Amino acid sequence: MLKIKNLNVYYGAIHALKSINIEIREGEIVTLIGSNGAGKTSTLKAISGIIPCKSGTIEFEGKDITNAQPHKLVYAGIGHVPEGRRIFSELTVMENLELGAYTRKDKDVKSDFEKVFEKFPRLKERRKQDAGTLSGGEQQMLAIGRALMSRPKLLLLDEPSMGLAPIVVRQIFSTIKEINKSGTTILLVEQNANMALSIADRAYVIETGQIVNSGAAEDIKQNEDVKKAYLG
Ligand code: ATP
Repeated sequence: MLKIKNLNVYYGAIHALKSINIEIREGEIVTLIGSNGAGKTSTLKAISGIIPCKSGTIEFEGKDITNAQPHKLVYAGIGHVPEGRRIFSELTVMENLELGAYTRKDKDVKSDFEKVFEKFPRLKERRKQDAGTLSGGEQQMLAIGRALMSRPKLLLLDEPSMGLAPIVVRQIFSTIKEINKSGTTILLVEQNANMALSIADRAYVIETGQIVNSGAAEDIKQNEDVKKAYLG
């Protein structure tokens, strides 16, 4: 579904992604794990067209999408839940979800609001509340719900566990699994390697801009280097 080949990204003189290769097949949950500053967010931003790729290619469903404009990628079926959620705090929960549906012209939008509310009943209770007054976990649910409103084929999730209590993290991860089961392919970026590996099919490990390991999530979990560096 997604093929990243020899991708290089720079911020000025900083070489943030060094010839990385990642492949995601339809229906999978793939996780990209690594420590602070390894290049996880940059990888997602490059896929979404938010930062430019200096060289290499990104293919989505057989089409070259390297350096495509972000809104075109949303139309193509790539949803992005950014780091730090980035919801619109002064808009209500419902208005945030409506914005997520801006690419849609079909009449099923209403039933999709209901689907999001089924996944996140807490959002339904708070639909008229300003998003900025939600708890961290609720804001994460809203950020995911908003991305789902564009009916993505591939959902990019940037550190959904960040700053959340363990019980909330478990809820969010079980919802991610459900979203995948109902047909959405997922690329999950995480510092919480344990949780990410527990729901993923396959994993890539990134260190200082380079992919240093990849394989079935179960094998990566047993890998001694990974255990030492990321699993405590
Ligand atoms: P974190 O988990 O801390 O967000 P990350 O793995 O997502 O880390 P990136 O945010 O992709 O890492 O950063 C990769 C490298 O690129 C880091 O060295 C970072 O300092 C650098 N970088 C990221 N954004 C910029 C920017 N806008 N300008 C300059 N350097 C940047």
